[in-house]
Amino acid sequence: MYRDGARKSIWQEEIRRFSSEADLHQFYDVAVVGGGITGISTALKLQQAGKRCILLEAANIGFGTTGGTTAHLNDFFDTTFNQAISDFGQDHAQLFADTGQEAISIIENNIQQYGINCDFQRKTAYLFALDEKQEKQLTDIVEGAAKVGHTMNYVDEIPFPIPFKKAVTIPDQAQFHPIKYIKGLCEAFLSLGGVIQEDCRCEGHDEQENHVSLETSKGEIKAKNVVYATHIPPGLSILHITNAPYRSYAIAFSLKSGNYPKDLGYDLIDPYHYYRTQEIDGQTLLIAGGEDHKTGHEEDTGECFSRLENYVRKYFDVETAYYSWSSQYYEPTDGFPYIGKLPGSSGRIFTATGFRGNGMIFGTISSQILSDLIVTGNSKYENIFNPSRIKPIAGFADFVKENAVVAYDFIKDKLFAEKINSLAEVKDGEAKVVKYEGESYALYKETNGKVHLVKSTCPHAKCEVRWNSAELSWDCPCHGSRFNVNGKLLTGPTVRDLPRVDTDSENQ
Ligand SMILES: Cc1cc2nc3c(=O)[nH]c(=O)nc-3n(C[C@H](O)[C@H](O)[C@H](O)COP(=O)(O)OP(=O)(O)OC[C@H]3O[C@@H](n4cnc5c(N)ncnc54)[C@H](O)[C@@H]3O)c2cc1C
Repeated sequence: MYRDGARKSIWQEEIRRFSSEADLHQFYDVAVVGGGITGISTALKLQQAGKRCILLEAANIGFGTTGGTTAHLNDFFDTTFNQAISDFGQDHAQLFADTGQEAISIIENNIQQYGINCDFQRKTAYLFALDEKQEKQLTDIVEGAAKVGHTMNYVDEIPFPIPFKKAVTIPDQAQFHPIKYIKGLCEAFLSLGGVIQEDCRCEGHDEQENHVSLETSKGEIKAKNVVYATHIPPGLSILHITNAPYRSYAIAFSLKSGNYPKDLGYDLIDPYHYYRTQEIDGQTLLIAGGEDHKTGHEEDTGECFSRLENYVRKYFDVETAYYSWSSQYYEPTDGFPYIGKLPGSSGRIFTATGFRGNGMIFGTISSQILSDLIVTGNSKYENIFNPSRIKPIAGFADFVKENAVVAYDFIKDKLFAEKINSLAEVKDGEAKVVKYEGESYALYKETNGKVHLVKSTCPHAKCEVRWNSAELSWDCPCHGSRFNVNGKLLTGPTVRDLPRVDTDSENQ
């Protein structure tokens, strides 16, 4: 398996193993945990700066969201600039706005310096309103962009066959192939003497005065500094309250007419749809994304694909859906990412998360911020993205309440499980959390009747997992940990599997 889901993403074919036999007994300058765009970009920057780095990945490079992204590179974000100005003030909103082109430049420089062939292309983006409410939103977005010096121009036509009310173009955006890109970064990192260790899960850390000791599935690893590029680091921290896991869905289609839009597109529906194209094996495909929801809060995740496909078919002359996949991102409570010193750390451990749908940009800018913090001790972004900040903006209480649903979800799921009295109620091909002899279990029955039974309580914060029919996984609605049908961990923050239960019915 190369990705944290049962479905194949359009990028996955390019994933390859980087299984160096690392010397884990060396004392490293920096151990970077997480082999997605954030971890790899950061490890490379630090290695370039003369640090001796090791990159640790629980599965394989590209296993996480970077293998399931859609890889638009934008300098306008899910958090609008007017929102940023009203919550953080003009100066901080300006810095926030500057990260977009700075990150795209870092990507372009890496591509040029290391000769990475990753289908990078500069693109124009079209942002379009479909009704009056969205028109108002679009006006607000354009006004906010002007205040931070970003150009958005009203246009009468868009290259997407979707009826719209108002639209703007945004110049100088881009797209690339995310796995080809991070593969190129890994090769550059290795060529500079960096070390990659895959199949190495980091389970915890002990921060000492002069170093950090990492507890990993391959034993103890010591480094002067540690960077967690794993979304939320292992263990419990304030980041669990200030970030919430969401899933988003993508499908890659061929079109009968062959008339593919050349640019990037976004409507303003909540959640919004996003569009780009990608050539794979000589064939152009339209990638459409959307249908986002909080992890574990959608009864039938397969429905999300149906809704997305039906929506796209309404407007485009779809021929075939070649790939469909979903993946997970984190929403921050106040709209800004959390990049910097890990809350509670005395200064040797760093983290980067809360990227919303803009993780290609914030993952890349993290490499600059974190290497500046480690190498020089400061960064111009240090204060605005400080992971320890608690910013009680409008909606904060609701967000925290919604996110602190540990107890609520636990009780609700227990009640739900109470209603199910026996395993017999689960049909072939179905999955449920069931009550069996007084205990709660996550049960999946294959279409041939084979039963997979695991304990249903997530080891992280004791929430009850929920079934994700689209990716055949058990997802924790509280903090986003995910497990396969055998209870094997797919996505943290937990570092433990769901205990598997041997039953007589298992081999039925
Ligand atoms: C469907 C979808 C579409 C998106 N589209 C866009 C887009 O168009 N543009 C954009 O800018 N952003 C987009 N995003 C967001 C973006 O893809 C992500 O924010 C970004 O990929 C996150 O990268 P990362 O390196 O931080 O995390 P990941 O890529 O998830 O990497 C984290 C890695 O850490 C590893 N790991 C976790 N825990 C441990 C541990 N304890 N020990 C060792 N390793 C561990 C995981 O296995 C994983 O490989 C999208 C997100 C989704 C879900």
